[in-house]
Amino acid sequence: MPRSGFRIPVARRATTDAAPPPGEATSHGMDSPTRRVPSLGTMGSLTAPRPRILILGGTTEARRLAEVLGRDPGIDAVLSYAGRTESPLPVPIPWRVGGFGGIGGLIDYLRAERIDRVVDATHPFAAQMSAHAVAACAAVKIPLLALERAPWRAGEDDRWSEVDTLEEAADALGADPKRVFLGIGRLHLAAFARNPQHDYLVRLVDPLREDLPLPRVEVVVARGPFDLAGDRALLERHGTEIVVAKNAGGTAAVAKILAARELALPVVMVRRPRIPERPSVDSVAAVMEWLAHDDAPAAGAADAERGV
Ligand code: NAP
Repeated sequence: MPRSGFRIPVARRATTDAAPPPGEATSHGMDSPTRRVPSLGTMGSLTAPRPRILILGGTTEARRLAEVLGRDPGIDAVLSYAGRTESPLPVPIPWRVGGFGGIGGLIDYLRAERIDRVVDATHPFAAQMSAHAVAACAAVKIPLLALERAPWRAGEDDRWSEVDTLEEAADALGADPKRVFLGIGRLHLAAFARNPQHDYLVRLVDPLREDLPLPRVEVVVARGPFDLAGDRALLERHGTEIVVAKNAGGTAAVAKILAARELALPVVMVRRPRIPERPSVDSVAAVMEWLAHDDAPAAGAADAERGV
């Protein structure tokens, strides 16, 4: 769990579930989104075994960590994407794309790829993946660390209604038709189909390939970083009366919340889902510190578990 919240600052960077583009292989990358990373023996030094790190990604934080690890010849890291985004940004380490096949599939992957440690840098709302990581790392007895941003906390000028689910967020909009900005991504828009009377403005990373379940909707395709001036102008142009957001935390997606504050708009804020306890840090530097230590919990047990 996040160790502390923070007062929302000005946005600087974007967050995205960024699977690298198929065919855009780097010197470390792969030419197919479905191929797995090469084994350690084909990638690294033959004389010094390097620790194998799996990064569960889909966020700016994961990409930043990948960039740092890509410059560290002592660590052999692979970044895993769910594959939700069509137009991702490249990273300087090997990557894989797609689900593992539940906890069992992740356990198989950790063993087959001889992973030594896992860093869960998924989005705070990717609760299933995070729970699977906790279970699989416990089963294989390898250390797990979460890299997660602190949640946003309302300031004095904010008018938030906090809810636990997107369905509750939809109901919190009320019966009267309103102009609503849905800053929640693409995956869970269906929750708002139960309130078709509102005029929705939806911002998405990729163009829509399917019809939305919302009859009155305007779609804006844009990738962050979003800034306060831009988000304020967007909300004003749309005539937004209420904003719906997930409490993602961090700086990447905060501009809409700051814009709502400036415009004195109410915000329906969806609280984070519960994730099983695991060690957690909130910076890439802290992950690097953790990786530098040999005594992370369960370190060394992996080989015994693998029978090597
Ligand atoms: P989720 O509900 O926790 O995960 C659903 C399934 O997707 C997982 O069980 C797993 O499939 C697969 N999966 C998720 N993240 C993966 C990863 N990094 N690598 C490989 N497989 C992954 O996750 P979600 O909410 O759908 O989010 C999907 C991805 O989008 C995540 O990587 C997350 O970081 C990113 N993202 C999510 C949000 C959000 O609001 N939820 C926002 C921005 C970015 P298997 O069970 O088959 O292994």
